[in-house]
Amino acid sequence: MRVLVISDIHANITALDTVLDDAGDFDAVWCLGDLVGYGPDPNECIERISQLDHLTCIMGNHDAAALKKIDAESFNPEARSALFWTRNALTLQNRIFLSNLSDKVTWENVTLTHGSPRQPIWEYILDIHTATQNFDFFSTSFCLVGHTHLPVVYSSLNKKSSTLLTIPEPNQAFILKSRAIINPGSVGQPRDRDPRAAYALFDTDTFLWDYRRVAYNISAVQERMMKAGLPERHIQRLSTGW
Ligand code: ZN
Repeated sequence: MRVLVISDIHANITALDTVLDDAGDFDAVWCLGDLVGYGPDPNECIERISQLDHLTCIMGNHDAAALKKIDAESFNPEARSALFWTRNALTLQNRIFLSNLSDKVTWENVTLTHGSPRQPIWEYILDIHTATQNFDFFSTSFCLVGHTHLPVVYSSLNKKSSTLLTIPEPNQAFILKSRAIINPGSVGQPRDRDPRAAYALFDTDTFLWDYRRVAYNISAVQERMMKAGLPERHIQRLSTGW
């Protein structure tokens, strides 16, 4: 099965539609959370995602905050102002869609979550130490995560507590050969200084991980953010991928 793996869309419909066009054919979609927050198109993104066939979608911290399951005080002032805007913009139907999302799902030999298998909503896996500890919190071969907006692969080598960090090259597919925690990067707000939308195609039979980047019309999104009065810093960071 060929699965489209996407994460951290962050209410950016232009990036999402570009990814859906670029990905070609796929049999299923795994979305690792943060459909909303920061961007100007929360309803459009939820509606697009909810219409996809064979969808598994996970709840992210911004989705939970939009539902008031997480207190706004835990966000920095700019993220908080975007959060209040999002809460106000979301339709009832889309709120219901978000409220039905799980924070961790297992599909055969793959675990899907937003932050980490240990703390699905909040924990950031940003270093080898945190990744190594998290291998004890899932039993499948692979765990797919989002949340950091950084495309990485942490591979567990057979020697105890030995984890290898790989930053994959875009558009160069490779086969996952050991237990791994993998992040496809962010569709709608990349933070690895590459402003292109990030996503992956995963072959569940061969374990081929095809990590990709695709350019999209950033200025169109920035214009909508300006019109909506969303924070300037979030508008600017789309241009630089940070
Ligand atoms: Zn996010």
